[in-house]
Amino acid sequence: MDNAIAKATRIISEGRRIFAFTGAGISVESGIPAFRGPGSVWERYDPRNLDIDYFVQHPEKAWPVIKQIFYNFMGSHAQPNAAHRTLALMEAAGHLDCVVTQNIDGLHQSAGSKRVHEFHGTASRVVCLGCRHTMPAAEADLSPDVPRCPLCGAVLKPDFVFFGEGIPADAYEPSSQAARHADVCIVVGTSGEVMPAGMIPIEAKRCGATVVEINTTPSTFTRSITDIFVQGKAAEVFAQIRLPYIDRP
Ligand code: NAD
Repeated sequence: MDNAIAKATRIISEGRRIFAFTGAGISVESGIPAFRGPGSVWERYDPRNLDIDYFVQHPEKAWPVIKQIFYNFMGSHAQPNAAHRTLALMEAAGHLDCVVTQNIDGLHQSAGSKRVHEFHGTASRVVCLGCRHTMPAAEADLSPDVPRCPLCGAVLKPDFVFFGEGIPADAYEPSSQAARHADVCIVVGTSGEVMPAGMIPIEAKRCGATVVEINTTPSTFTRSITDIFVQGKAAEVFAQIRLPYIDRP
C-alpha cells in the first residue's frame, strides 16, 4: 500500500472528532467538472455570470449560462462516487462528525450523509430576489430565458452563493465549530483558493487538528497546513482507505 495512504488510514482510524472539508474535486469522478484546472468550468464559461451584481443587472445573459453549467451537465444524472460514499459510511458508523462542503451538487446527501454543512448553498433550490421565497429547483419553471417567481414574478436565482455574496450563517457557524473541535480534518479535492471557505481547514489546524489532504495536485493547503498529503483521485484514494468499521468487498 502507498505509504501516504497507510499513514492517512492510521490517522483516520485513530481520530475521535473527525470532519471532512470537500470541494469540487470530490465530484469530478462523478462527472462534474471543477471550476479550476484542465477541463474545468472556467475554461469554457465566463465566471462573471456568477457575480451577483452582474446577475442582477443581466439575468437574461447569466441565466442561460447558469442553466448549462448547473442544471444541464451538473444536473440530475451525476451519482455519488466512492469518496462521497465512504464519508457517508464513516458518519453512519459514528466516526465522522460532519461534512463541510463547498459543493452545491447535493452528492454528499445522495450518498447518505446526514450532517452536511453547505458552505456555498445548493443548486437544488432557487430563491426569489424579490420576496425571498425559496423552492426546489426541480419544481420551478426554469424554461424561460429568465425564470421568475410563481408568487411575485421577480427574478429567481439559484440558492447558492454567488461572487460578492455572504456565507449563509446556518452553514458558517456549524462549520467553524466543527473546525474548532476536530482532531482530524480530511480535506478533499479543493484548491483552497475560495475564501472564507478556505479558512475552515486553517482554523482546524490552528486548533490542533491533524490535516489529511487528498488531491490530484498540491493545493494552497499542501505546503502550509497539510500533515499527510495523499496525491490521487478522491474516489480511487477512498477506495483504498480500509477502515475496520466499514465493510467493503
Ligand atoms: P476548485 O475548482 O477551485 O479546485 C478543484 C480542486 O480539485 C483542485 O485542487 C484539483 O486539483 C482537485 N481535483 C480535481 N480532480 C480531482 C479528483 N478526481 N480527486 C481529487 N481532487 C481533484 O474547487 P473548489 O476549491 O471547491 O472551489 C471552487 C468553488 O466552486 C467552490 O465553491 C465549489 O464548491 C464550487 N464548485 C462546485 C462544484 C460542485 O458542486 N460539484 C463544481 C465546480 C465548482
